[in-house]
Amino acid sequence: MFNLILFGPPGSGKGTQSDKIVEKYGLVHLSTGNLLRQEIKEKSPLGLEAKKFIDKGQLVPDEVVIGMVDSYFEQHKNAKGFLFDGFPRTVAQAKALDRLMEFKKKEISQVLILKVNEEELIKRLVLRGKTSGRSDDADENIQRNRQAVYKMETLPVADYYSKSNKVVVVDGMGEIQDIFERLSSHIDKKIK
Ligand code: AMP
Repeated sequence: MFNLILFGPPGSGKGTQSDKIVEKYGLVHLSTGNLLRQEIKEKSPLGLEAKKFIDKGQLVPDEVVIGMVDSYFEQHKNAKGFLFDGFPRTVAQAKALDRLMEFKKKEISQVLILKVNEEELIKRLVLRGKTSGRSDDADENIQRNRQAVYKMETLPVADYYSKSNKVVVVDGMGEIQDIFERLSSHIDKKIK
């Protein structure tokens, strides 16, 4: 099983690149952002609770997200591997993922970190806000808040993984296809 974490700040292109990676390598896409947006669309109790946080650019509580990941993992038992997109976003989530992997006798194979400068991130998010229809894209202040939350709560996750030799930092600037080729070249070295 090949389990990949695609890591990076909001606007770094995780979603775009994830779609291309899962198609090329046949992995199951586990995007906590997509799962939460689906819950919101269905107006489920979980979705309604999550929306309060998402609309402010804050993180949804760990236990909600971890529960969602556990059950998604369970529903895709026969997967060849997973691509984790937007998860883990806190050290508590990273530890929960470690526990899940250990319990299932699997492991994280690789962590790819997309590096994009902040000016470019805000530019991309403003542009996305014009077409995505996402409530958390619409307002520049919310986007700045999401970048701040990333630095405070999510960057420590990169540190957490940097102790292993699974982490590769990839230049996330430039054309979508060029970035994809950079990511693929690292995946090709690890995937069997
Ligand atoms: P994304 O589509 O990954 O950018 O996620 C959109 C929003 O959903 C984030 O700004 C958070 O409010 C929430 N969210 C997504 N994934 C997580 C996570 N792993 N932990 C907490 N909140 C999350």
